[in-house]
Amino acid sequence: MTIHNALSIVKEPGGYLQFLISEMSECPKFDKMCKLIKNRIYMDYQASTPVDQRVIEAMKPFFFDHPGNPHSSDHAFGWEANAAIDEATQKIASAIVADPDEIIFTSGATEGNNLAIIGAAGYASADRRRILVSSIEHKSVFAAAYAASEQFDLVIEQLPVDHNGIIRLDILEERLATDVLLVSVMTVNNEIGTIQPVKDVTSLCRNVGALIHTDAVQALTAMPLDVNELDVDFLSLSAHKLYGPKGIGALFIRRDVQRLVKPLIYGGGQQNGLRAGTLPVPLCVGFGAAIELVTSADAVMERIKIRALRDQFIEQLNLITTNIHINGASGDLRHPGNANICFRSLDAHELIGALQPFVAASTGAACTSGIPEPSHVLRAIGLSDTDARASIRFSIGRFTSGIDIHESIDALHEVMNKIKPCKTGRGL
Ligand code: PMP
Repeated sequence: MTIHNALSIVKEPGGYLQFLISEMSECPKFDKMCKLIKNRIYMDYQASTPVDQRVIEAMKPFFFDHPGNPHSSDHAFGWEANAAIDEATQKIASAIVADPDEIIFTSGATEGNNLAIIGAAGYASADRRRILVSSIEHKSVFAAAYAASEQFDLVIEQLPVDHNGIIRLDILEERLATDVLLVSVMTVNNEIGTIQPVKDVTSLCRNVGALIHTDAVQALTAMPLDVNELDVDFLSLSAHKLYGPKGIGALFIRRDVQRLVKPLIYGGGQQNGLRAGTLPVPLCVGFGAAIELVTSADAVMERIKIRALRDQFIEQLNLITTNIHINGASGDLRHPGNANICFRSLDAHELIGALQPFVAASTGAACTSGIPEPSHVLRAIGLSDTDARASIRFSIGRFTSGIDIHESIDALHEVMNKIKPCKTGRGL
């Protein structure tokens, strides 16, 4: 096959698989390979979840049948779109026990985190100039905090976590004072799945009058959320982490805190003037449908099933290698679908590369300059750079089956035997 022919096939939808099949038909393991390709296994739910078919159905009428701008008040098309937004807002609010006027739609959690942190910094008083963030936050929290610090001359401090990734409450208490504007501690970590004691963090913050933000993007697939119980001022959500569409999220902003937030986007004054712009009706409807499903009565059973599959994955992995270590907390302090595993002495990028295109999982490494940096989360819980570089996050969810677990272990077994251990790895 010429390169030109190969490229034209690969560019077609599904062409990559077609290309692989045509190239591999000579391979002695062709049958096995075909089976694996057909059953590609997605184990990267914490990066993004597939959209539930029921969510897609709920969204469909809002692409063509109901084209109205939800902010057009003169005609029935606008009213219908507006009613759909109201319903979606209501669903999101009740999922976290908030009021609908405390929900601000955003493009996702990156924007939500920016609005909470930069927005609060924009109106910070002269005597509150410090922001505290945990050392295992998502990059969008760090980046927003450092941007706020530059723009408004604030000081950012990182709070350490223990070896499980739990925030050190004793150190938080020591650092808290009446000059702290805001504390940001994520509810559930996206890399190691650790669940934080947000309520305890809030109680400490309340003693000094600091605002509290939590990035709860990964939380609703792990547990129920109640903003009153958590007593937070800001809480970020994103639809694509809970079987909804990409490009839509929400920031809960407690009603009495809204006047303390400087908007990031100005325009037609939509959403209490806190985030201007026409709301994307199909995405908002999809978010509403997805959050209703993920907080329904069935969600409890779903989490139990996912946790059992995750535990089965770890058990089976332990049968094929003894040279692994689970990063992060165990039991109830961990997201049920998360398994972050250090394959001592192997290179995680190489291992994931060798699994392509069969099994999707990810490293927490950030690649900013062409050289992947080991994950800041794994370093914060005390892993060496070598172990951090040997670690992979497998995250499973609603559509993962027992067969997926079994076949992913088969695929791992096959490729682990082929990869040479790194010379600097632990255990060598
Ligand atoms: N926070 C956490 C914990 C996340 O996992 C992610 C997504 N990787 C984000 C924020 C950013 O969310 P979004 O993709 O909706 O901007």
